[in-house]
Amino acid sequence: MDPVLSVQGVTVRFGDHLALNQADLSLAANETLAVLGPSGGGKSTLLRAIAGLEPLAAGRIESLGVDLAPFPTHRRGLGLMFQDATLFPHRDVLGNVMFGLIMKGEKRENSIRRAQAALELVGMEKFADRSVSDLSGGEAQRVALARALAPEPKLLMLDEPFGALDRPRREELNEELRSLCQRLPTAVLLVTHDHTEAFALGDRVMVLREGKVEQTATPTDLWRNPASPFVAEFLGWNVTHDAQGRVAAIRPDSITLTCELATDQERATVVARTFRKNHWRIRVETVSQQILEVEIANSNSERTLGVDGEGLAIGQSVGVAIDPGAAISFPELPSSHNSNKH
Ligand code: ADP
Ligand code: MG
Repeated sequence: MDPVLSVQGVTVRFGDHLALNQADLSLAANETLAVLGPSGGGKSTLLRAIAGLEPLAAGRIESLGVDLAPFPTHRRGLGLMFQDATLFPHRDVLGNVMFGLIMKGEKRENSIRRAQAALELVGMEKFADRSVSDLSGGEAQRVALARALAPEPKLLMLDEPFGALDRPRREELNEELRSLCQRLPTAVLLVTHDHTEAFALGDRVMVLREGKVEQTATPTDLWRNPASPFVAEFLGWNVTHDAQGRVAAIRPDSITLTCELATDQERATVVARTFRKNHWRIRVETVSQQILEVEIANSNSERTLGVDGEGLAIGQSVGVAIDPGAAISFPELPSSHNSNKH
C-alpha cells in the first residue's frame, strides 16, 4: 500500500536561505513519526510545506500515491495543531470542534455527533457548552486536538503541541496522545525539540538539522547508533576528538566512575552533579582536559563500584572507565560539525 505521506526531495527556500534541503520521509498509516531537532532546523517549515502553506522550490509530496501539489490545505486530509493553537473565541467548545466538519460540508447533526465523539477522545466531553475563554491552557490544547481529530484526518500533524504548557501537564497530555495514536487509524507527524518526548511518542524519529535529514530510525536504534556526531551530541552523548581529529561518541550511561584508580583508567575530577530522579548526571573533567557527562543510575550501586551520585562531591578525584561496546568512532571530523550543546 502507498504510504499515507511520502515526501521526496522537498526543498523550501526563504530568499537565499535553505530552510528545507531535499528532505525525504515516508509515513505508513498508523505510524507516528517524531521530527526532532534544534530550533531553526526546519521542523515547522516541513509541516507547513506538507500542509501546502509553503511553496516548494523542489521535490514532491504525495499521499496514498497522489501528488498533493494541486490540493489546497483544507483538501489534503490533514489535521493540524500548533503550539499556539488559537481557538475561535466566539464559539463554544463544541462549536470549535465542529468547525472543520461544517467546512467539509458535513450536516449539522452529524457534525455535532462527531464533534462530541472527538471531545470524548480527549476527555473533554463535559466541556462541550463551555466558553473557550474559561478553559485552562491544557484544556484549550485538548480542545484544539479534538478539533484537529474530528474530521478523521488520514494524517495528524502536531507542531510542539504542548510546548507552552507546564511540565506535569505536558507529560500528562503526551501520555494521552500516545495512547490516542495507538488507538486511532491515523498517521501522526509530531514536531518536538525534546528528545525524551520524541522517544516517548515516535515509532520512528527523524532528526532534522539546518534543513537536512540527519537520520531516521526507531528510538532504540537512534539511541544506540547515532549516525553522526551531531545526532550523538544532540541526544546527549559525549562527543570528543582525538589527536588525529577523529570523532568518538560515548554514551553517558556507559561510563563508570570508581574511587580506586585501576591501571586502564584515566583520572578525572567531578565538576558538577545534578539529580535526575532515576539517575545522577555527573560532569567530570579528565586529566587530559576532556569534559565527560556521566549518568549513574540511582538504584544500581553495582555499576558504580562504590561510587553513587549522592556520595560524589564537587572536586573529588575519580577513575573513569568507558565500556568500549557503547562508544562509536566516526571516520573523520566532518567540516559541518560544530559543538551545538542544547
Ligand atoms: P524549527 O521549526 O525547526 O525551529 P523553522 O522551520 O521554523 O525551524 O525555521 C527554519 C529556518 O527557516 C529558520 O532559519 C527560520 O528563521 C527560517 N524561516 C522560517 N520561516 C521563515 C519565513 N517565513 N521567512 C524567512 N525565514 C523563515
Ligand atoms: Mg518550529
